[in-house]
Amino acid sequence: MRPSFVFSVDVEGLWGVFFVERWRGDAAAARGAREAVPAMLRLLDERRLPATFAVVGHLFLDRCERGDGRPHPEMPRASYPWWPGDWYAHDPCSDEASAPDWYGRSLVEAIRRSPGGHELASHGFSHAVFDERHMDAAVAAAEFSAARRAAAGAGVEVRSFVYPQNVVGHGPLLAPAGFTCFRAPDGDEPQRAGPPGGAGRAIRFARHVAGAAPPVGRPRLVHGVVEIPSSMPIVGAEGIRVLISRRARVARARRGLEAARREGAVFHLWTHPHAFAGRGAGVLDSLAATLDDAAALRDRGEIEVATMGSMAAGFLAGAGR
Ligand SMILES: [Zn+2]
Repeated sequence: MRPSFVFSVDVEGLWGVFFVERWRGDAAAARGAREAVPAMLRLLDERRLPATFAVVGHLFLDRCERGDGRPHPEMPRASYPWWPGDWYAHDPCSDEASAPDWYGRSLVEAIRRSPGGHELASHGFSHAVFDERHMDAAVAAAEFSAARRAAAGAGVEVRSFVYPQNVVGHGPLLAPAGFTCFRAPDGDEPQRAGPPGGAGRAIRFARHVAGAAPPVGRPRLVHGVVEIPSSMPIVGAEGIRVLISRRARVARARRGLEAARREGAVFHLWTHPHAFAGRGAGVLDSLAATLDDAAALRDRGEIEVATMGSMAAGFLAGAGR
């Protein structure tokens, strides 16, 4: 295959972090995350680089209301040992103007209006984690279909799926729900559901600090949908992560781009808007440098820039489907 670069962004508002009280209460970080989306669009569009924005379904809404006295009675719930309460307990059941971290129609519109040819993809309806030990098939099917329906309500058809927390589950239900591809965990490493921390965290941190070469891979067909390989996230600069230098960030991504070029593989970089909040200006600078590297390789004809959807379509066309 042609060496390729994919950049995907998980847009989740507070749906991805509400179970951590410190983040739920951090209005400055939430505002920084909202402002990061137009900032990323500007960097991408200046370089004519299309990206994939995987948006939580609830953010396609501009409002919602209580039914039967509770949020979203139509949605079945998973139940996780690390979140014993109702998954929708913090849903404000209001609108985007009064609760912009729970609704994101204007972000969706900004991405759609942007000239860069970006893909709007799905990140679940409520960011419920597809951990098969705690989410049964009925809940998974409801998440997939509610995510597609919410996007359709904003006039968008989503065909690519990014699993919340990169926990891959209920894969056989993706194709019947209308999806054509999903993002694999980085280097195919299984991910752990729940609040941040735990095994592997120190190792991942060390790789970022050292600028270690990230994994590259090739798409493949799994359960009738295309698994898009993934390489590494752009992480934030909060807490101990302030020790990850700009130079290490840029060098690490450059090693990924080089490996893709050399091996005829995919370097897939991904991130969250939250990574650019607070101290995130430095993180945004390093993203700009990485996008310069990708655009230079593209301009020399050495790498192709793809969205998840365009890569899946190309793969399926090549597979004779
Ligand atoms: Zn709601």
